[in-house]
Amino acid sequence: MVNRLLTGIFGKPPGTVNPGASAMIAVGAAGLQRLLLPPTCLLCGADGALGRDLCAGCAADLPRNHTACPGCAIPLAGSQNGFCAKCQAEPRSFARTFAPFRYQPPVDFLIRGLKFEGRLSHARLLGELFAAALAERTEPLPDCIIPVPLHPRRLRERGFNQALELARAAAARFRIPLLATGLRRVRYTTPQTRLDAHHRQTNPLGAFASGRWEIRLRVALIDDVMTTGSTVGECARVLRAGGVNEVEVWALGRTGASV
Ligand SMILES: [Zn+2]
Ligand SMILES: [Zn+2]
Repeated sequence: MVNRLLTGIFGKPPGTVNPGASAMIAVGAAGLQRLLLPPTCLLCGADGALGRDLCAGCAADLPRNHTACPGCAIPLAGSQNGFCAKCQAEPRSFARTFAPFRYQPPVDFLIRGLKFEGRLSHARLLGELFAAALAERTEPLPDCIIPVPLHPRRLRERGFNQALELARAAAARFRIPLLATGLRRVRYTTPQTRLDAHHRQTNPLGAFASGRWEIRLRVALIDDVMTTGSTVGECARVLRAGGVNEVEVWALGRTGASV
């Protein structure tokens, strides 16, 4: 049903919308390579486990974000649970956040290798780990997944959108439409990593645009890393202004010391 309605909105079947054709070809080549070569740990070179390019030992050492605020996924110290002080004090444009890993070694290494060295094998592994973490949850799945978009200029420079590549495994495993063009970035912005805390808050404002959504949708907005939450917050605000009913944020890694 949702598939048919989304098809009506977008004019072609959801899940086939893809601005990164070169990335798709590369992912296809990676899939072929996987058929020919046994999985090998990207971190230590040992044999991969569970069909992934990660060995059992390295998988056990991954920095899971088990105790985190359900609103913004900031790591919580000790035995705390519930919403962090910031989420309790300020309204958010998104309902909750799921970020299964902390942005610490080796997750930061894998994400940086993907973004800055074009290592799509990292996207495949991280995407599979994210999908496996999603399978452990009990929350209902969204109607569709929308990646935080890159500006067309940066997409040309990089050749792929890392958020879209990270979303592929979850979309395929749970059969959720992946709407690559559900949001557009209409203003070229300075990378958040080059800005201080104040400018990170204001930098994404006005940078995104959404079409008009005529059906009530629950959207998962996916990004690689969540730091201050200002980028996903602005994306979620724009989606909801366009008629989306509820936005949940998904991020591979969450920065921030425990609060
Ligand atoms: Zn390993
Ligand atoms: Zn919070």
